[in-house]
Amino acid sequence: MLKDKYDVVIVGSGPAGAGAAKAVAGHGLSALMVDKATLPRYKMCSGILFPSAVKAITDEFGELPESVLCEPVVIKGGRVFVDVDSPAMDAPFSVFEDDPELGDDGINTDRAALDHWLSMKAGVPIVDKCLLKGFRREGNEIVVELRHEGLSAEVRTKYLIGADGTRSAVREAAAGDFEKDVRLIPNYEEWYTGKIDLEPGWLYMFFDRSITGYFATIFHKDDQIVAVTGTKQGESVKDMFAAFRSHLEEKHGLVVEKKVTQAGCSVHDMSAKENYFLGDGNVVLAGEAGGFNRCGEGITSALVSGKAAGESVLASLDSGRAAVDYYTKAVAAEIETCTKVNRTIEAAVGLNPFTRD
Ligand SMILES: Cc1cc2nc3c(=O)[nH]c(=O)nc-3n(C[C@H](O)[C@H](O)[C@H](O)COP(=O)(O)OP(=O)(O)OC[C@H]3O[C@@H](n4cnc5c(N)ncnc54)[C@H](O)[C@@H]3O)c2cc1C
Repeated sequence: MLKDKYDVVIVGSGPAGAGAAKAVAGHGLSALMVDKATLPRYKMCSGILFPSAVKAITDEFGELPESVLCEPVVIKGGRVFVDVDSPAMDAPFSVFEDDPELGDDGINTDRAALDHWLSMKAGVPIVDKCLLKGFRREGNEIVVELRHEGLSAEVRTKYLIGADGTRSAVREAAAGDFEKDVRLIPNYEEWYTGKIDLEPGWLYMFFDRSITGYFATIFHKDDQIVAVTGTKQGESVKDMFAAFRSHLEEKHGLVVEKKVTQAGCSVHDMSAKENYFLGDGNVVLAGEAGGFNRCGEGITSALVSGKAAGESVLASLDSGRAAVDYYTKAVAAEIETCTKVNRTIEAAVGLNPFTRD
């Protein structure tokens, strides 16, 4: 299933990997996408496509199929509780987006279905259950070290695109010491059937330090209510979650009939600190792997930077110059957007959830 040699290997089949794959597909290259998970894979995420993500997807991949949508399909924006006693402040998506061509509504999606649809539409062969362990350079080639269904394998490639998310193995192998400055923020979620006195169709965001060390959210996915909070490393995320759940029960009428599932993950502070790692030579990093995230809205950034990574490979193949030179220029505007959104949220809420104490 794996060949010995490729022109480009993409690690990760999330929106960054799909964006990169779509850009390189159809150009006569030998390309491969690998993902360590069994696909379709669960991704902890509110799964809300902001208007910019809806446009990026529609432009590059076509109309979203019904199979990726959740009820309520339309999300109007964020409803923000700065502290436990404050009234909700409405933040429609237009607060974050200044492109007049964009619609007003966000779209509620199932991330496993969305990411699978995007990656399958991209047009590059995908091998799942295939973990990148590391890579090394030999002359002009990159030797990618994989573990596929329990067996070690090596493939050679001219270009490597790391689209492997927050705790990127490509970044770790490429960037060495850089990792020590990356702060991880643990997050935990529970899915319930039951009821809550919060109208569906909004993403509810809570910033009070007694219920989160990051920011907490509530959203609806079909007939379920999802509660998420995060905290500082060293604090118990489950204790913080218990405080958040009590708050929801006392102030917002949460009644849990049944806990359906739970999950945990980490996010990083790279974008909030303008601390990106774009790559080196013909290794480039897109999406969360590179640090891209518009203060919580990461899907657009992943699609945009993934596309830029793929296009940089094409430009490098034409000229012989390093892909990272093109990529650095191509993502400058996205970095500016991330910074702008971080500043907008800091101004509105009085803190940045990724860097708060
Ligand atoms: C709680 C939470 C809520 C969020 N809500 C939203 C939201 O509503 N809207 C929004 O726009 N953004 C949201 N985000 C952010 C968004 O989920 C991410 O920014 C986005 O998924 C980044 O896409 P990506 O392609 O860079 O990485 P990912 O989607 O994480 O994909 C990375 C892929 O790489 C694979 N991988 C990882 N390591 C390896 C390896 N070593 N070898 C092979 N494969 C590997 C993984 O299996 C995965 O499939 C949220 C994030 C969190 C944590």
